[in-house]
Amino acid sequence: VPALAIENLSKTYGNDFQALKGISLRVEQGDFFALLGPNGAGKSTTIGIICSLVDKTGGQVKVHGVDIDIDFPAAKKFLGVVPQEFNFNVFEKTRDILLTQAGYYGIPRGVAEERADHFLKKLGLWEKRDTASRMLSGGMKRRLMIARALIHEPKLLILDEPTAGVDIEMRRSIWEFLQEINAAGTTIILTTHYLEEAEALCRNIAIIDHGQIVENTSMKSLIRRL
Ligand code: ADP
Ligand code: ADP
Repeated sequence: VPALAIENLSKTYGNDFQALKGISLRVEQGDFFALLGPNGAGKSTTIGIICSLVDKTGGQVKVHGVDIDIDFPAAKKFLGVVPQEFNFNVFEKTRDILLTQAGYYGIPRGVAEERADHFLKKLGLWEKRDTASRMLSGGMKRRLMIARALIHEPKLLILDEPTAGVDIEMRRSIWEFLQEINAAGTTIILTTHYLEEAEALCRNIAIIDHGQIVENTSMKSLIRRL
């Protein structure tokens, strides 16, 4: 089954603003996929619907074959999401944020601690493990959000503009980390408005504009045509 299958997805905000006009997408397991588009195109709305923060108007979303309308808890096990906005408890310590998240998934404490420590070290946050999240830099917060999204070992990681507002060095370290977990088998979908970011990382790409998919192809064939 595909990691993600979206059929004819639509979203109308208010009475008549069509943010998504019936988009369809299919992302295979193991892919590194970019959803590229300008601000306002509908990227965050799409992600919001997949993780059930936004109600869709029409269409169907399946994560690893599981329809989110039929069994969202089952779909959620496959899914890790890194939203654009930081949404931590600002007073909670870095390591505790990961342990709290693990608690939501019923992960045993010992396993949770092992994973948390692994990600803290891997993502350069080990020195900050006892620091409240509000004291972290923007790049560190972003990496903590990635660690939090991975704590239940999802098969599919979706990131909304993962390097927005992050300096160039930090961007490279986030890119390298994502490449590493993709090489280890995690499917990755990211949204971006930088073609450069999609080109550096992704094998396949869809371009969204005004709520419609205007291109859906391999990165190689897109670059060949530019
Ligand atoms: P992107 O992530 O590509 O920048 P969004 O999905 O955030 O795009 O937004 C798509 C369109 O929907 C934009 O025109 C945005 O202004 C509008 N929009 C997003 N959220 C809401 C909302 N809660 N109410 C009304 N309009 C919204
Ligand atoms: P606080 O109100 O203390 O800041 P929240 O309850 O808003 O903390 O949770 C912070 C983040 O943890 C949320 O944005 C969400 O990503 C995640 N989260 C919260 N509740 C759940 C839950 N039931 N299952 C999975 N993740 C959750």
